[in-house]
Amino acid sequence: MAGGTGRRTSSGSPVKPLDGDRLAALALGDSIGRVPGVGPKRAQDLAKLGVDTVQDLATLWPRRHLDRTTLTPIRDLQSGTVATIRGRVEALNERFTGRGQSVLKVRIGDSSGHVEATFFHARWIKRQLAPGTEVMLSGRIESFRGRPTMTHPDLDVLSSGETPRLGLVPVYPLAGDLKQRFMQDLLSRVIPHLVYKMADPLPESLKAEEHLADRAWAILHQHFPETLEDLERSRRRLVFDEFLRMSLAVLWLHRADGQHYAPKLNPDNPLLRRFLEALPFDLTDGQKDAWRDIRRDLGASKPMARLLQGDVGSGKTMLAALSMLTAVGSGYQAAMMAPTELLAEQHALSLEKLMEPLGIPVLLVTGRPGREREVTYSRLASDEPLIAIGTQALVSERVSFGRLGVVVVDEQHRFGVRQRADLSQKGLFPHMLVMTATPIPRTLALTVYGDLEVSQIRGLPPGRQPIQTVHVPMKERRAAYQKVLEAVKGGRQAYVICPLVEESEESQGRAATLLAEGMQKLPGWRVGLIHGRMSAQEKSTVMEAFREHRLDVLVGTTILEVGVDVPNATVVVIEGADRFGLAQLHQLRGRVGRGSHASACYLLADPATAEGEARIQAMTETQDGLILAERDLEIRGPGEVLGMRQHGVAGFQLANPLKDLALLERARERARHILTADPGLTHPDHAGLKNWVFEALEAALPSHVLH
Ligand code: ADP
Ligand code: MG
Repeated sequence: MAGGTGRRTSSGSPVKPLDGDRLAALALGDSIGRVPGVGPKRAQDLAKLGVDTVQDLATLWPRRHLDRTTLTPIRDLQSGTVATIRGRVEALNERFTGRGQSVLKVRIGDSSGHVEATFFHARWIKRQLAPGTEVMLSGRIESFRGRPTMTHPDLDVLSSGETPRLGLVPVYPLAGDLKQRFMQDLLSRVIPHLVYKMADPLPESLKAEEHLADRAWAILHQHFPETLEDLERSRRRLVFDEFLRMSLAVLWLHRADGQHYAPKLNPDNPLLRRFLEALPFDLTDGQKDAWRDIRRDLGASKPMARLLQGDVGSGKTMLAALSMLTAVGSGYQAAMMAPTELLAEQHALSLEKLMEPLGIPVLLVTGRPGREREVTYSRLASDEPLIAIGTQALVSERVSFGRLGVVVVDEQHRFGVRQRADLSQKGLFPHMLVMTATPIPRTLALTVYGDLEVSQIRGLPPGRQPIQTVHVPMKERRAAYQKVLEAVKGGRQAYVICPLVEESEESQGRAATLLAEGMQKLPGWRVGLIHGRMSAQEKSTVMEAFREHRLDVLVGTTILEVGVDVPNATVVVIEGADRFGLAQLHQLRGRVGRGSHASACYLLADPATAEGEARIQAMTETQDGLILAERDLEIRGPGEVLGMRQHGVAGFQLANPLKDLALLERARERARHILTADPGLTHPDHAGLKNWVFEALEAALPSHVLH
């Protein structure tokens, strides 16, 4: 198989006689530019992928492998299977959809028959595919009018006379001008020399007891497996490592937690009672259950560390408010952290409204410099009971709290470990509540946060009507906007979410701008625009106008994904819905259905992939976040489930925290054992593990926390 020995590269770049010796002489820490064939430009592009040194290549994991162990003659293709074919381009036909998107149909033939491949948005693909070009295609076979077709298959253009890579072919992430073929060649040349120089941090006894492969073997076979079994065995070892490393790091960090105390707060204080009496509604049973857990924690001196899970719209903010009131009513300060400034502002606005009658100050803390900021900072540093709302700026080095009792972290898993470490660095051990709409298995919560307890808000507030969710094909797009118009005429408001283009907020913002400009021209529509590249000031002005119903329609990007709460908004249109992840779609849909009016979500898409179609179908079938999380897992398979990777839970690259739960538990158990027996990791057998722990912590934490 290609690259298995490091010698057999494709004939496109023949192995030079001295290459092996020069590669063997490389040290792990050498800069990547020292590898023969990597010049300054490529070194720069590799740096974008996080590869600065030779050793960084080892963990530049393939995103997946193409199964090119067998080539199938086109005649034998069977619908529903995944196959690889080799053939020549016979004909091309490009057409454009109503919205100017290109759809490229390519007929490929071998000596046994023809297959039609469809590519979307694929001008660059078209350029590579002159008739007569030899190609290899891998992908799922579908059938259209009895003929085999492939939609967006993986494409390899073979230059004339070239021997293609066969076997299980790794597919690497790319950046800049890097080409897949170059990456495959580079890795297949370097990895075999590299892995045997790398130390294996696991003690032999542990490997034997857990039936784990050697790390060198595992790395080599993660890149260049010969069989799927090898790939799985390799993955098992590497995933175990990720979990062990994370578990050790978190346990290490919280070794000393037991010795710290948080203030005992009074959850029956008069302020809190007044607040509850004045509430226009009763807490839901789900909120009451969660509140029982939280108030018990707040009344004790052990710092609370609790994860609050509740589906979109279940009313988590109310529990944040109750927790913070418990602090303020007991003479302490409370802080709430949100992932974005926009969300922090929204929270500040709604909490101000709730707190004003009680005379409790709510301060918005942003990173923006100015006189106001200095005043805010000095109030935080005093022991005035107050509520502070902000982003990470709240835990920056410049901020200090005089009397912090409670910290709430909203909608962000990544926060938690890091925030606690930052705060403990300041000598603060407040009660901490982390809130999320994404269900996380308990074991994972334990691993990521050390000792987090989990509460769940079951159910939604009463009177909510199901959100009617409809898939609208592009050619019926106008019908969806007709519904928007009807809602607006009826006094309601609507969101329009623009398609994700190239996964970049910038181009999504451009799309939003165009769309908003178009709609602003229509008489009778009061349309606002919001995207990530606007200034914070502009964003909050628009948000305020929408909240106050001076705008009917808000056109925006995924920055509207979390937290925005305008109960009068009843319609959300999601353009290019097939491009969004399921968790994201669910969050976006959750912007409506927050009041008592009937709401609707229109998913505009002509799905370009089977996965996109499956996601849309799942959305139309259920509104339950838990079920959607499970469907997400099925659809995506191993990989970026729960948005863990996007949310950057440090250290998990190969692990799928949901599927690998058993392995996670084993690793956690091992980590506990190791640290019980050797709390300082001073045993010579544990030197490698200690390095790992420090690397993991350094990646996640500022270094001053460690020493
Ligand atoms: P999420 O859990 O998504 O953060 P929010 O806290 O934003 O949800 O709450 C969604 C909406 O439900 C808000 O408008 C809030 O005022 C309202 N709400 C919260 N609790 C209740 C309740 N017990 N009864 C009625 N409405 C509620
Ligand atoms: Mg929320």
